[in-house]
Amino acid sequence: MKIVMLGAPGAGKGTQAKMIASKYHIPHISTGDIFRANIKEGTELGNKAKGYMDQGLLVPDELVVDLVVDRLTWDDAKEGYVLDGFPRTIPQAEALTKALAEKNEVLDHAINIEIPDQNIIERMGGRRACVACGATYHIVNIPPQIEGKCDKCGAELILRDDDKPETVRKRLEVYHDQTQPLIDYYGNEGVLKEVDGTVDMADVFAAICNILDA
Ligand code: ADP
Ligand code: ADP
Ligand code: ZN
Repeated sequence: MKIVMLGAPGAGKGTQAKMIASKYHIPHISTGDIFRANIKEGTELGNKAKGYMDQGLLVPDELVVDLVVDRLTWDDAKEGYVLDGFPRTIPQAEALTKALAEKNEVLDHAINIEIPDQNIIERMGGRRACVACGATYHIVNIPPQIEGKCDKCGAELILRDDDKPETVRKRLEVYHDQTQPLIDYYGNEGVLKEVDGTVDMADVFAAICNILDA
């Protein structure tokens, strides 16, 4: 099963993608996580990406596309995957369609998690991410058992640099401008499915499972 997650920053793509990956035994491929890992390791890619990310801008397509296309050839992606944070532009979506077509494959679902902008800023201010394993929490909606500590691995939870309110506003602008057009793109490809992202995370997941199991 090959799935793309769509939705504004903070819509819940990562949260749902992790749950999908674990239920359906497919890898969760997050370009944001890949960039953050590269930044942490101080790689050349990480250094290039960081400047854009800190400003709330997208990393240029040429730094993203080959990376993802290569990732899809790994053994663990044979039975499918859930892509989170990619594609984010029309050229990225076209590159994905082309890479799939070359292998006689198609995308099964593009799941758009819908949520109004007003909800986003509040959500992002409360998002906390684990420095070690990347698990995400929300200080009010999805709190960890012990404040500031990851339930899964015990490491420290932090507010991402790009989750500060000014940067979130910029990311939302970039989303509407460059990523929202993908909703029509996948609508035209006949794989678009929409879910309400404003309800509890378990209810969002139930709606997604209904789509995947149909
Ligand atoms: P969120 O899940 O909150 O939307 P991500 O973790 O997906 O954020 O991405 C964080 C940042 O990484 C983005 O704001 C952008 O700068 C960069 N990024 C991630 N994926 C892509 C992509 N496919 N194309 C361009 N930039 C990307
Ligand atoms: P994205 O990957 O789309 O940027 P995340 O999955 O990281 O979004 O979620 C953004 C923030 O909102 C996180 O703090 C997360 O814990 C929280 N969150 C996710 N889903 C829900 C939900 N259904 N209701 C309330 N908060 C949520
Ligand atoms: Zn952790």
